[in-house]
Amino acid sequence: MAPGWLSIPKRLNTQWPSTSVTDYDVAVVGAGPAGSATALRLARAGARVVLLERSRFEHPRVGESLSPDVNPLLRELGVPLPEGTPSYGVRSFWGGAASSSTVFSPYGTGWYVDRVAFDDRLARSAAAAGAVLRTGTTCVGISPGWTLRLSPGEPVRARVLVDATGRAARIGRRLDAERLAFDRLVAVTGFLPAADPGGFGLLETVPEGWWYSAPAGADRLVAMLLTDAELCRGLRLGEVDRWRAHQGPETAARLRGPGSPHATFPPHSEGLRVVPASSHRLHRSAPDLAGQGAPWLAVGDAALAVDPITGTGVVRALRSAQAAAETVLALLAGRDALPAYEAALDHECTAYLRRRVEYYAAEDRWPTAPFWQRRLRGLSASGASPAPGTD
Ligand SMILES: Cc1cc2nc3c(=O)[nH]c(=O)nc-3n(C[C@H](O)[C@H](O)[C@H](O)COP(=O)(O)OP(=O)(O)OC[C@H]3O[C@@H](n4cnc5c(N)ncnc54)[C@H](O)[C@@H]3O)c2cc1C
Repeated sequence: MAPGWLSIPKRLNTQWPSTSVTDYDVAVVGAGPAGSATALRLARAGARVVLLERSRFEHPRVGESLSPDVNPLLRELGVPLPEGTPSYGVRSFWGGAASSSTVFSPYGTGWYVDRVAFDDRLARSAAAAGAVLRTGTTCVGISPGWTLRLSPGEPVRARVLVDATGRAARIGRRLDAERLAFDRLVAVTGFLPAADPGGFGLLETVPEGWWYSAPAGADRLVAMLLTDAELCRGLRLGEVDRWRAHQGPETAARLRGPGSPHATFPPHSEGLRVVPASSHRLHRSAPDLAGQGAPWLAVGDAALAVDPITGTGVVRALRSAQAAAETVLALLAGRDALPAYEAALDHECTAYLRRRVEYYAAEDRWPTAPFWQRRLRGLSASGASPAPGTD
């Protein structure tokens, strides 16, 4: 590695950067909802933006349930509402017998969408607004200034760098921000073809964690067990038979129900996937925030990732993109906008952690199970202190 380069994934790299570098005002790394919405807003405000995405939106993604709050956010961005199944509510077996929450919102229904199609559409909307979208392009190194080394392709240079790489927060962590992890949640996830996936989400607790299943497109269901990483390893929950054996009765009935070809599982060529789902806050030091060196910021899950039980990840990502874009524009204008941006995220993080304790306290049937004990104590499995900042 050349002196001054911060390598991002250890496995990659390849070419020494040539002298051909393209300049932008802003480089956004990651075209999930947060990165695409940030790039879209910046491009619309007249900034020269490059939006880098390592995938070509070819692999299945989790996060298909969109709350009604997404509707006004998408309208404001000028992105067409998703084609998907309307979501009218969730059947919940959390804390005892069934309860149903019906969605009553001034913004209409929520949606179950194919997240690949949804993310792809947002990225293309950013491109239509003027951002330069480069899919199939991974940022593999950064040097302060900012120059980004890409694979494949020539480097790019930008005055402001935005980390929108999701829960991995690849850029921020390389820039020495501290990742405060609040748990070690993982989601053991499978996609199942279903002739009639229904129009509801199903939530059910078990001693090892909780199950969620929902439509993920017109002809398939997604089903996932949310549990702690060590339980997943110890109980081998990533194996189809074990995963199935730990299903709650309602989940098992749904996955075996009419129109659901449970017998043919695993349906997708990838089978089950264990996806990180831990909560974290990317914390920055005071000197870093004081504006020494070139400015950067994190947005969406990279800045603050929350428990999927909240069902708010995509909406938070779209909202945080607005704050991020405003902050970037202020930085480009030479104003010191980072401390206020980070303080607002600290505040949001504290409120989220309080809410998380309330969610988990509503289930008291498994008081001796390690998964539930950890949450009821309100402490992180990793021992990290729960909250930076104050409410
Ligand atoms: C199991 C699970 C279930 C969930 N369910 C829901 C749900 O039902 N509803 C909901 O609203 N939210 C849900 N969420 C949360 C939601 O998916 C996230 O909050 C949301 O995707 C965050 O968007 P983001 O843009 O910040 O990050 P991401 O969506 O993670 O996007 C990050 C992007 O960065 C790209 N990238 C990473 N590294 C690089 C690199 N070096 N170079 C270039 N590109 C890179 C990735 O390919 C990716 O496209 C769920 C999360 C999990 C883990």
